[in-house]
Amino acid sequence: MSFADVILPVPLPGLFTYAVPPAMESTAQVGCRVQVPFGTRQSTVGVIVRRHQTPVSDPKVVVKDIMDVVDAAPVVLPAQLALWQWISDYYLCSVGEVFKAALPGKLKKRGKLMVSERQLAYDTMSLPLLSPAQSNALAAIHEQWQQHPVCLLHGVTSSGKTEIYTHLIAEAIGRGEQVLYLLPEIVLTGQLTERLRAVFGDRLGVYHSKFSDKERAEVWLRQLSDAPYDLIVGVRSSIFLPFHRLGLVIVDEEHEVNFKQQDPAPRYNARNVAVLMAARSGARTLLGTATPSFESFYNARTGKYGLVELTERYGQVQLPDVEVIDVKELRRKRLMQGPFSPQLLEGMRAALEAGEQIILFQNRRGYAPQVQCHVCGWVPRCPHCDVPLTLHKRTGMLTCHYCGFTTPVPEQCPACETPDLRGHGYGTERIEDDLQRLFPQARIARMDLDTTRTRTAYEQILDDFAHARTDILVGTQMVTKGLDFERVSIVGILSAETMLNQPDFRAYERAYQMMAQVAGRAGRRRQRGRVLLQTLSADLTLIRQLMTNDYGQFYHEQMLERREFSYPPFTRLVMMYMKHRSADTIDTLSRDAAQRLRVVFGSRVLGPDEPPLARINGLFIRRIVIKMEPSLSFSQARQFLLQTRGDLLSEHFYSSAHIYFDVDPL
Ligand code: ADP
Ligand code: ZN
Ligand code: ZN
Repeated sequence: MSFADVILPVPLPGLFTYAVPPAMESTAQVGCRVQVPFGTRQSTVGVIVRRHQTPVSDPKVVVKDIMDVVDAAPVVLPAQLALWQWISDYYLCSVGEVFKAALPGKLKKRGKLMVSERQLAYDTMSLPLLSPAQSNALAAIHEQWQQHPVCLLHGVTSSGKTEIYTHLIAEAIGRGEQVLYLLPEIVLTGQLTERLRAVFGDRLGVYHSKFSDKERAEVWLRQLSDAPYDLIVGVRSSIFLPFHRLGLVIVDEEHEVNFKQQDPAPRYNARNVAVLMAARSGARTLLGTATPSFESFYNARTGKYGLVELTERYGQVQLPDVEVIDVKELRRKRLMQGPFSPQLLEGMRAALEAGEQIILFQNRRGYAPQVQCHVCGWVPRCPHCDVPLTLHKRTGMLTCHYCGFTTPVPEQCPACETPDLRGHGYGTERIEDDLQRLFPQARIARMDLDTTRTRTAYEQILDDFAHARTDILVGTQMVTKGLDFERVSIVGILSAETMLNQPDFRAYERAYQMMAQVAGRAGRRRQRGRVLLQTLSADLTLIRQLMTNDYGQFYHEQMLERREFSYPPFTRLVMMYMKHRSADTIDTLSRDAAQRLRVVFGSRVLGPDEPPLARINGLFIRRIVIKMEPSLSFSQARQFLLQTRGDLLSEHFYSSAHIYFDVDPL
């Protein structure tokens, strides 16, 4: 009798053993999908990880038969299976959860799949020439790679990093290697793909979640075929694609938080997994950014990674001039017009008259982040979460940005019956409205989660802006990254405070990165761009460092704090999250959990405390932070964490709780 261990898309730990009927002996190969009975389900689709002859030792377990082998040849390679296992171990989730995230939906269902034949007609790749600074950087990267498999390219905005990547990709393809190019966000794939398509044509495949299941399954199968794409451009899930001869991984905008999956499990960081994956295939990795994450910068400075710096913009265009506008002062003098300072309005007016374009960044979507009764102060809040509802004027709705709860704006205050509810604060929707009033001639577009729900919507917005069919682009953090437009002369940051005042030890790091990135959209071709930065904290050191583009000094100062308070990169953090319907149970559970963890981890355990959002979707939330110094054995620590969770959940009183971990949280 022979057996197969199978991964199933379930949150239970471990693999599941099935018997291989004689008729399937030769077809049930490792990496093939199989249909198996599981629990109460008639059948479920899993993947074979191992074949063996060892019967299950527990006599109570009835080993069932595989019902069907779906594929004629493996659809998952051994290296991928090993990577899934690594992710499951490191990020403390089940390998089934990794499987669910990894495979395109279509491959998780049964049904045979075919890859269409592809006619390959490659032109030679023609490359735009590098500047001396770029050539030097390219040579330096090669040199660094001699010693370090991972190199960080720290190049100011518009220094032409993409051109350098292009050369590296062409070289790798020339050697017969495959390349994975990771981007943090779908918004960026369009513009970048166009640039890369011009050079690599048919060799390029794109992979992201706004593609249909069918398209994603096709890319997956194509990578297994005899004619795979040489270059894959994609967002974080593309680390799960099969590669036969991976030679180069590029992680663009490596500092971006979006590389980390927050929910659901696996809560993996695609940048870090990509580095590991490259190392396992003997490939080189290039991390590129104008504002390195502290983790990567630290690795580069301490010699773990190579470091190459590019300090000038392409074409010797100057970095933008950052002008700080003291909103406190202007408010005192009553000179603010809503969210706009006179300087910003004046700058915009001049830019519009000169036929130039403007980007305005406000890190809040909706019309007003909060609504309040002008008479009694009543504020509508989400009944399921611990937050005020955001006003969306276009739809006339109040919406919770955490659980999606939506309700019409009441005609009058339910508390005092006065019909005088007013919006407080400025979301992108309100800024768009105000602008239209202030500049009736201007063509304004807004880019945020609400305007980019469909696959083509964001492409349309960017295309209009690129072809000067719109003058002003207002948006959330979506407008801050990687975009390359030639006519943008002014960038306005409406409020630094929306970023600075986050309750998170990384708040300043993020605020700096976001502001430097959005600033970098200004003046990329011809004359120097202007950045108008509105803030209540004009004296803050961070603001001065932004003005002088002194990332090194900013990093240096922040790292002193990180070291003093034992934060990453000096320690590794693991968060333990607990959720429950009952406020009492969550209190008992979280205190109990912390006590058990302290037995082993001692003072490394902080909490339990309430996260900034202590209730989402009707579930109360508590978290415990564990700070681990580098010398602590992480594999032993992980085992103990899993065991503690198991022990807690096996207690009747806690059995309906959710407990999960977030390793290296962002
Ligand atoms: P970064 O990624 O560093 O922000 P980009 O790669 O987008 O910068 O380059 C900025 C602009 O300069 C782009 O429009 C790009 O086409 C142009 N550029 C960069 N390098 C070259 C080059 N070697 N030849 C021609 N144009 C270049
Ligand atoms: Zn009221
Ligand atoms: Zn809610």
